[in-house]
Amino acid sequence: MGKNDEMNDKERFLNALLLKEIDRASAACPLQTATTEMMDETGCFWPDANYDSKKMAMLAEFAHTKAGIESIRVPFDLCVEAEVLGAEINQGRKNSQPSVIKPAIRREKDLDVTFKPDPKNDGRMKTVCDAVSILSEKYSDVPIIAGITGPFTLAGQIRGVEMLLMDFFDNPDFVKTLLNYTTEVLIDFAKALTESGADSIIVIDPSAGCELLGKKHYESMALPYCKKLIDSIKVPTILHICGDTTPILEKMCETNADAISLDHLVDMKTAFDTVGNRICLIGNINPADTLFLGSTEDVKNETKECIKAGARIIAPGCGIPTGTKIENIKAWIETVKEE
Ligand SMILES: [Zn+2]
Repeated sequence: MGKNDEMNDKERFLNALLLKEIDRASAACPLQTATTEMMDETGCFWPDANYDSKKMAMLAEFAHTKAGIESIRVPFDLCVEAEVLGAEINQGRKNSQPSVIKPAIRREKDLDVTFKPDPKNDGRMKTVCDAVSILSEKYSDVPIIAGITGPFTLAGQIRGVEMLLMDFFDNPDFVKTLLNYTTEVLIDFAKALTESGADSIIVIDPSAGCELLGKKHYESMALPYCKKLIDSIKVPTILHICGDTTPILEKMCETNADAISLDHLVDMKTAFDTVGNRICLIGNINPADTLFLGSTEDVKNETKECIKAGARIIAPGCGIPTGTKIENIKAWIETVKEE
């Protein structure tokens, strides 16, 4: 704790999420936190750290112990569930995250809704649950945040986004079946993560953004499934959608998430004036231009702007780029502590 702090990192983070009183803004980070500098210092590198729970926990906690981020967050990528559901994955390298290279469902009959992974035993769902267990046993006063994929994004990963959008016109019943299925899989995963000790779950649904879906289709294709998932989760929840989500801010609130994590393309002040009285806003330092490529002075100035605009948790607008210097991360954290 800093010398003027009245709360520990976990109390402040949870109070911020639940719109309760806080002594100052939180500098937790609900999106990916690993950088190559952290990998070099811990000896825990991608892709290994994505597949080994001990390495995952070590690399994740370093963002807290070394850089000062006021939370610990796992995993580092967004392919955990798709991989367990049979999508073909490129494991990535030291500076690139795993990615889906081949969807699992090529024909409608490939979808087996009776296959329900057991998150505490299967593939990387187990890796992440184990990492959460390690971290939650070690840290009682730092929030452990677990990230999961949104139902729409996961459906796009296992079917292929273009195919999914075609199905939307050709075979809407199949789309509903698929989205119900990904929702059920994610409900089980979130439950296992919570039982493993996660203090908060962030649902990341990049494919549900305005660029691909637009407001009308967000309402029918993404919102109901995301709401069902979030309603099932017993710990405070955060919803992150990439890009400019200004047109769907109200709709994102309807998912019943406790907080919304905003991309840097959203104007924080506008977002605060729209929904800030009823939901916690998180964000939205520009991850690439400011945190990665900017000076410490740039980071400080943007951090101050986020606080002034009404964000209760000050964090990058998306995952931290791996090339980001620890010095710049510290500039963000120290500025939040000073304000
Ligand atoms: Zn994002």
